[in-house]
Amino acid sequence: MSMKDTVPPPLFAPEPRAAAPRSLCTDCGLSRLEIAGECGQACQFIRPDYPTMEDRVQGRQRQTDTDERFFGPYKKMYRAALKEPLEGAQWTGLTTRIAQRLLEEGAVDAVLTMAPDPDDKWKPLPVIVTDPAQMAQVRGMRMGYAPLLSLLEPAAAAGHKRLAIIGIPCQVYALRRIEAQLGLEKLYVIGTPCSDNTTTANFHDFLGRLSDDPDTITYLEFRADYHVELRFEDGSHREIPFLKLPLSDLSPDFFPLTCRTCVDYTNVLADITVGYMGGEGEQWLIVRNERGQELLDRLGDEVRLSAPGDKGKRAGAVKGFLENTRRAAGGLPLRKMPDWVRPIVAWMMPRIGPRGLEFARARVEMKAVETVLHLRREEPKKIKWMIPAHVWALAKPYDLTPEDGEER
Ligand SMILES: Cc1cc2nc3c(=O)[nH]c(=O)nc-3n(C[C@H](O)[C@H](O)[C@H](O)COP(=O)(O)OP(=O)(O)OC[C@H]3O[C@@H](n4cnc5c(N)ncnc54)[C@H](O)[C@@H]3O)c2cc1C
Ligand code: SF4
Ligand code: SF4
Repeated sequence: MSMKDTVPPPLFAPEPRAAAPRSLCTDCGLSRLEIAGECGQACQFIRPDYPTMEDRVQGRQRQTDTDERFFGPYKKMYRAALKEPLEGAQWTGLTTRIAQRLLEEGAVDAVLTMAPDPDDKWKPLPVIVTDPAQMAQVRGMRMGYAPLLSLLEPAAAAGHKRLAIIGIPCQVYALRRIEAQLGLEKLYVIGTPCSDNTTTANFHDFLGRLSDDPDTITYLEFRADYHVELRFEDGSHREIPFLKLPLSDLSPDFFPLTCRTCVDYTNVLADITVGYMGGEGEQWLIVRNERGQELLDRLGDEVRLSAPGDKGKRAGAVKGFLENTRRAAGGLPLRKMPDWVRPIVAWMMPRIGPRGLEFARARVEMKAVETVLHLRREEPKKIKWMIPAHVWALAKPYDLTPEDGEER
């Protein structure tokens, strides 16, 4: 590939303007734009309107009697992998390769995404990418928030009118709300799922509990087989079952309220969602509309596609999560599990737990349950406007239904 032969120019990381003060904010970057006043109508955490946005972006609202109930509107869903996985990618690199193809084919002027901060590889840094070879530098996952949408002004100033944006759901929701004001000729939105994000500082605290030498950790992922995978600078690997993670003494607000109550796990307003949850060890692709199909087609035979698997029953796992979340009273769900139970459950989960699409459904339902419980405890007055109908529908089988004044 050409990126091996040429030295790409340095990444362009424009200095964002200061953020406007906001409560319940993941600093998606909108408050750093001239149109910062749009936060009120554009923020996922204020008054999200998914039915309108699904109509506008995907041409229709999600069906309530199919898997769209969990994953939002889509045309096709696949288990997927790049046949030749890309070095440094979080999984096989489908996300960055899709964007790279757009640059290679001249279909966009620039890609807006996150690079590792040069001073802290785990901190996301918003960058404007114009050379396909530069995409190698943005592969992989960082933990934390960075103002992706702040890049819209410098991108416009540079004359970029055809953009691809790689974003997590709270960034993509705000982007879609302001899309019509941007005057773009073309916009491709490549989304990843997202859950349990936290500040980069909190994440360093977590890494410090996993290893005596946390600076040597180069990769971390919460896999669909209930293990955290760690890779180290010396090439070694470690796999830790979720239930053996040293979570019990993390502070209860380790995950900010935004991420404990986020209502869009699977990035339903993206053109294509690239994750791993339904992929059983491979990646998981959700093609949501014609533009998403075009993005997948551009990969040609570089990608291997198959039908996602679907095994096990999620109800027990979701009920257990609900009870743990209740017992933890605002803290982390695993806090109160007795130590001797953990190794047994950790051994059992990959063997009997839900897998493939059933695992993805379970995680989406857990997220819905968590949203209701945490908002009831911490911001009950915001429930009416923050929880959309689709989240109530996901929580209903677990006897969580709107109480007086909680429904719009
Ligand atoms: C905080 C977080 C939580 C996630 N949780 C889940 C989950 O529960 N289930 C699931 O299926 N997938 C989740 N993902 C997505 C997953 O980690 C992979 O990014 C995705 O599967 C794509 O893999 P890939 O090899 O195609 O990505 P790559 O080709 O390696 O590209 C990854 C892309 O993500 C961007 N990125 C990295 N960190 C951030 C960040 N902090 N904010 C915004 N963009 C970023 C990079 O700039 C790059 O463009 C999460 C991602 C993040 C950032
Ligand atoms: S729209 Fe973005 S910047 Fe504005 S409050 Fe919401 S997350 Fe924060
Ligand atoms: S979990 Fe939700 S709110 Fe938190 S960073 Fe991810 S998309 Fe944003």
